[in-house]
Amino acid sequence: MKLVDTHCHLNLIDNKEDIIKTFDENNMEFVIEIGINVENSFENIELANKFEKIYCSVGIHPNDSANLTNKDFDTIKILAQNKKVVAIGEIGLDYYREYTTKKEQFNSLSKQIQIAQEVKLPLILHIREAYNDAFEILVNEGISDKSGVVHCFSSDWKTAKKFLDLGFYIGIDGPITFKNNHKLVEVVKNTPVEYLLPETDSPFLTPVPFRGKKNNPIYVKYIIEKIAEIKDIPTEHLSEIFLENSKKLFNI
Ligand SMILES: [Zn+2]
Repeated sequence: MKLVDTHCHLNLIDNKEDIIKTFDENNMEFVIEIGINVENSFENIELANKFEKIYCSVGIHPNDSANLTNKDFDTIKILAQNKKVVAIGEIGLDYYREYTTKKEQFNSLSKQIQIAQEVKLPLILHIREAYNDAFEILVNEGISDKSGVVHCFSSDWKTAKKFLDLGFYIGIDGPITFKNNHKLVEVVKNTPVEYLLPETDSPFLTPVPFRGKKNNPIYVKYIIEKIAEIKDIPTEHLSEIFLENSKKLFNI
């Protein structure tokens, strides 16, 4: 089966080069390395320029949105013009960890939605316990036809439907393999397969059977297998659909 991981953080892993070396033998078509702050966005471009199968996004995570200046946003906009940058993110709202104020988070999200519209790139949204507010900001700022993905979706079907209606994809991570995740199973069941994307969020959120260990992009296989089981689609066929979805959204 062909693999694609649309959300990972290889730059947060010590032995990343050892992992990258295993991509070919595991049929990894490509991965997207996701930005969390300005410095990390620079590092992601460097990594993507070094390895053919790595694309990246640039952006500032809501947990990193304290004390930002206009210069930070200008830098993200300049970095976004690198040819291996395929999205702006991860950006959003996170009320679970209150490292930053809501006001700082709103400002950072709005500014980066505007950048994405200017540079014509899709968004990678990180939303935690803040779906209603994030939805409102997206509607107010206006969504370009590039839309984006709600990364590591963790709410219910009713909320998923609202984002799908805006044109967003739904990102599914390791938690889909955890026992008793009925809410997420319902989201996967109801979402059209053309709007689902497989992600690992490596080194976090490791799927079963490696839960508890450090995550790795090739473990996306277990997420694809679980979605195939829920949707009752042969795994091989689903992996082709996911490859197409990823290429289409990120223009790869
Ligand atoms: Zn992430």
